[in-house]
Amino acid sequence: MRCKYCNEKCATDFCGYDCMNKYESHYALVKKYAGVFFLGVLGPIALVVPMFFFLEYMFLFVVVIFIIPAITTMALPFCPQEQVDYSGLKKTIHQCRLAGFFIIIMGMSMSLLIALFM
Ligand SMILES: [Zn+2]
Repeated sequence: MRCKYCNEKCATDFCGYDCMNKYESHYALVKKYAGVFFLGVLGPIALVVPMFFFLEYMFLFVVVIFIIPAITTMALPFCPQEQVDYSGLKKTIHQCRLAGFFIIIMGMSMSLLIALFM
């Protein structure tokens, strides 16, 4: 058996109270902010429609469409349960934040390309 938080080998679900507390406080956060998370991740997709009416500001829309979900994911690293079960919550949170960081870089570079070539 492995600790559900840090993924170290241990006899029970958690290797200690510290890991158990961190795991539980994460899921308390998930419960509290699940709505904010979905709005932050999926909400910006709605901006694709007005974007076509303001094509000269497309680079701004692209920044917002990428950056809002990325910041949401970094602030609220809610990840699929399968991933948490597989590699432990601690590692999954790090991966989630790293993914958010790369999405920001990607959004910035796409926006820059659009601003330069359109
Ligand atoms: Zn642990």
